[in-house]
Amino acid sequence: MFERCVALAWCSECRIYTGAMVHVPRSHTLVDALASLPSDDRDRLLRGEAKLVEHLDRHAGRPA
Ligand SMILES: [Zn+2]
Repeated sequence: MFERCVALAWCSECRIYTGAMVHVPRSHTLVDALASLPSDDRDRLLRGEAKLVEHLDRHAGRPA
């Protein structure tokens, strides 16, 4: 059984932001890249895609 998820991908080298509909197995737990943030910061990032991309760009490749 699969869930449909919106997958957003940001390439910091090409500066390209893409979105796609993907299927994720129901048994697969997705990593929450914002899990370590205080809820205020998290809400702020989730309200604006530009800020969210900026945040993910800065933290790309680093363990949470
Ligand atoms: Zn690229």
